Amino acid sequence: RAKTAGRNMLRFFDPGMEADVVNRVALESDLHEALAKQQFQLHYQAQMSGGVLSGSEALVRWLHPQRGLVPPDEFIPLAEETGLILQLGAWVLETACAQLVQWAANPELSHLSIAVNVSARQFRKPDFVSQVGEILSRTDANPKRLKLELTESLLVEDVDDVIEKMHELKNIGVGFALDDFGTGYSSLYYLKHLPFDQMKIDRSFVRDILDDTNDATIARTIVTLAQSLGLGVIAEGVESLEQLEFLAELHCHAYQGYYFSRPLPIDEFEEYALGY
Ligand code: C2E
Ligand code: MG
Ligand code: MG
Ligand code: MG
Repeated sequence: RAKTAGRNMLRFFDPGMEADVVNRVALESDLHEALAKQQFQLHYQAQMSGGVLSGSEALVRWLHPQRGLVPPDEFIPLAEETGLILQLGAWVLETACAQLVQWAANPELSHLSIAVNVSARQFRKPDFVSQVGEILSRTDANPKRLKLELTESLLVEDVDDVIEKMHELKNIGVGFALDDFGTGYSSLYYLKHLPFDQMKIDRSFVRDILDDTNDATIARTIVTLAQSLGLGVIAEGVESLEQLEFLAELHCHAYQGYYFSRPLPIDEFEEYALGY
């Protein structure tokens, strides 16, 4: 970050920054067409619980005709700013629910759940609850197999509205996970009032859990907090057996990460699930 006005001026004329802006504008206009052109895909990452595959997290991918695979961290923030996240989010929900219905017909896959990431802007829409209800009934998906992942950014304003919507969705059977826990600004007060089923330990705490005692302490505290609130807990970003064993000693028995599987295209995920 520039500290002085002079440096700010310099940054203003930085050709690299100009390229960033041009790049952003180009990406944004491509993003508008991407839904219609069916350039989005869902990949599925295994979630393990108590030693078995219990479900997956659906992660959106953008297959750009020139740029190739654009990671969500590059286009989700843009989609949020432009409002396109509303249509994209609806597409993700619909695609995940259609997938649940396909699995329901296969006894080897019918127990699997799908966790869908919901952005704050999407969740705040007044008709979010009826939209989810409508997608569930139109696709005929089992709401008990659908889990919505929310982040702490939702808990900053109008918490009463969030609580009400969560209860309405829980009443029809939908579950909730608190994503990236520990990286935002959750108030422990609100946490008690929000009907989450599960907390997700952010992968930034798991990465160095073996060497960094602060990370280990934070992970242990999250597990204890989840237990005392009566919630499940799952660790993200588990990449090694050593991390897994460490987490197991902290009494965290649900995991997601490259150690088990990367997010996979649907065919590969099903192959993984059937072979498990
Ligand atoms: P997230 O929801 O926290 O998803 C987990 C991210 O961690 C994914 O990144 C996943 O690929 C990555 N990951 C999983 N295991 C490991 C591991 O062992 N090591 C490492 N280094 N990374 C691991 P991805 O797919 O790039 O997604 C990034 C973020 O984009 C997601 O974070 C989520 O916030 C957002 N996102 C993805 N799909 C959607 C979507 O459909 N809607 C919304 N609103 N956001 C989405
Ligand atoms: Mg997530
Ligand atoms: Mg996460
Ligand atoms: Mg994340």
